Amino acid sequence: MNAERLQRVLKENLSSVHEHIQQACARAGRQAEDVHLVAVTKYAPWEAVFALYELGITHFGESRPQQLVERAEQIPTASWHLIGHLQRNKVRPVLEHSGYIHSIDSARLLERVSNIAEELNVNPKVLLEVNVSGEGAKDGFSPAELQEVWTEMAATKHVDLVGLMTMAPYTDDTTVIRNVFSGLRNLRDELQANSKCLLPHLSMGMSGDYEIAIEEGATLIRLGSCLFEGIED
Ligand SMILES: *Cc1c(COP(=O)(O)O)cnc(C)c1O
Repeated sequence: MNAERLQRVLKENLSSVHEHIQQACARAGRQAEDVHLVAVTKYAPWEAVFALYELGITHFGESRPQQLVERAEQIPTASWHLIGHLQRNKVRPVLEHSGYIHSIDSARLLERVSNIAEELNVNPKVLLEVNVSGEGAKDGFSPAELQEVWTEMAATKHVDLVGLMTMAPYTDDTTVIRNVFSGLRNLRDELQANSKCLLPHLSMGMSGDYEIAIEEGATLIRLGSCLFEGIED
């Protein structure tokens, strides 16, 4: 696909997404400025990532540290979000290249991030990943577990703890999906009530379910496939 056509397809996809964001915000009585799009580029070819950047997208999400580092080096002026599992031995390169980590799934990992952040003199924004639905295969804290360790975690230095992240299970049942998203919001409200630490961000919603997520309070939506639809034709 030539560059011009690629731009055109991406632009159409973006404008359709923005329209859906507007509509979901209108239904929920929310402002569209409070919903931030993170373009998930893990399966996208480099040309498409760069084209999106030229179209004004500045927040990108990658699930693998290696690819995040490579791409962040190509577009250092964008914000790079790690959204996939982070191993302890990858914390340093990730912190050197990314301002947001959505996938903090243990107290031990948060401590490691805090230590490396102090060494590097950075203050990354971090979100705690929660397995709201209780599905066995998913990473993340269970809500009960998080409530137990919360006070201690909220006091962690050298990181800016800004919110919670979750993924809905793969299902067509929108009630199940909505309950996961409202569950994350309720958990956030409880955690906030029990400390001075505010958690303004809810990272929830992917291509298939972001409108429901917005209706339930998402501030960061992580969209991949719907942005890149049609670019391989
Ligand atoms: C891949 C991925 C996304 C984007 O998924 P799409 O369905 O392609 O929009 C969002 N969040 C996480 C954690 C992912 O791994």
